[in-house]
Amino acid sequence: MRKYYQKEVETASREELIKMQSEKLVKQVRHVYDKVPYYRNLMREKQVCPEDIRCLEDIKKLPFLCKDDLRDAYPYGLLGTDLKECVRIQSTSGTTGKRVVAFYTQKDVDLWEECCARAIVAAGGSDEDVCHVAYGYGLFTGGAGLHGGAHKVGCLTLPMSSGNTDRQIQFMMDMESTILCCTPSYAAYLGEAMAERNISPEENKLKAGIFGAEPWTEEMRRSIEKSLGIKAYDIYGLTETSGPGVAFECEEQSGMHINEDHFYAEIINPETGEVLPEGSKGELVLTSLDKEAFPLLRYRTRDICILSREDCSCGRTHVKMTKPMGRSDDMLIIRGVNVFPSQIETVLLKMGYSPNYQIEIDRKNNTDTFDVYVEMSSIQMSDKISDIQKKEKDIETSMRAMLGIGPKIHLVPIKSIARSEGKAVRVVDKRKLHE
Ligand code: ADP
Ligand code: ZN
Repeated sequence: MRKYYQKEVETASREELIKMQSEKLVKQVRHVYDKVPYYRNLMREKQVCPEDIRCLEDIKKLPFLCKDDLRDAYPYGLLGTDLKECVRIQSTSGTTGKRVVAFYTQKDVDLWEECCARAIVAAGGSDEDVCHVAYGYGLFTGGAGLHGGAHKVGCLTLPMSSGNTDRQIQFMMDMESTILCCTPSYAAYLGEAMAERNISPEENKLKAGIFGAEPWTEEMRRSIEKSLGIKAYDIYGLTETSGPGVAFECEEQSGMHINEDHFYAEIINPETGEVLPEGSKGELVLTSLDKEAFPLLRYRTRDICILSREDCSCGRTHVKMTKPMGRSDDMLIIRGVNVFPSQIETVLLKMGYSPNYQIEIDRKNNTDTFDVYVEMSSIQMSDKISDIQKKEKDIETSMRAMLGIGPKIHLVPIKSIARSEGKAVRVVDKRKLHE
């Protein structure tokens, strides 16, 4: 079985990679400056011209680009080619505001699909596999990306899209799906739905899952691996940089290799914009080195992670990023304390609860209220009221130890929190309604 999809580049030496990135960067900056007036203005404002960019180090001279720039330039303002050369449009899910649209030439689609193919092969995929794609199809990039990647690998591809759980399970069993691609929250739901139908993890033919598009914890990984009887791999990407496949996990499952031949990654301090040394935690900034139609230079992803260039046992040389545990703008500030939803997930799953929870923030009498609704298991539901209250107190104590602030915990009956078919809605912030 093949171990890499594109061995030469995936295992290239650091020197080769840096040389490749430098050459591509110089070309890309020139291309963008000539073709995109929006960038030309940004660069002029910062008093940089293409001649100033001679090697990778010079990237620091370039201005950052952020999501608001994409919204300002909507829809065609950042096009790097004539519209006539484009063959596809995709769009963000709009999780954090107005949607952003991205354009692709045929070459852009091919390179994107190759990145997804690398992820599938890294998860053990080959032309022997049945790849069950349950990411949403349509404007969202999840479905299209993994679908294209699965074709490139030669898998038998099942374009299921999301939703209709009964049909998902029927096809998974009848067609003997071996690789499942969807959001981690939907994978967790499929695991739960199969257990309810008395299908044990040994009965399905699944061996691996490629899950991404939203933050998920290590605890969530273990829970999905157990419920589906698979190895669960992480995949990262965003519409602005094509979609999933910017980075993917190998068999080591300890961080995702960023496809460095196509994307140059930096970590910055989100407050000051200062570039941080390797190993620091900060905001991931990506530069697309090959994209034609929608080339982004120094794009601020708002995703918080750490980069590491330590050797990986899989033989891939590309830099690894840790799981982004939420975006800088996902961070909740509750009574002045910074809280990431992923911290709450970690506590709950460690204590043996299901990944079905919802956080509700509100403001009453000028104070933030902080409630977490958590589903009980069927065993717990038969507990006495006093036992349930004690469990709620226990969770509250663990949360306080983790977060420095204690939410009010509500253990609620099974199925009272809506299941997600795409990206899960973990937070309901009602404070925004009062603004
Ligand atoms: P939207 O920004 O509207 O959600 P996208 O569908 O393009 O649009 O989502 C991209 C975002 O999804 C990323 O910026 C990141 O925050 C999140 N994301 C994608 N993959 C992962 C992953 N593996 N782990 C954590 N977050 C992820
Ligand atoms: Zn590796």
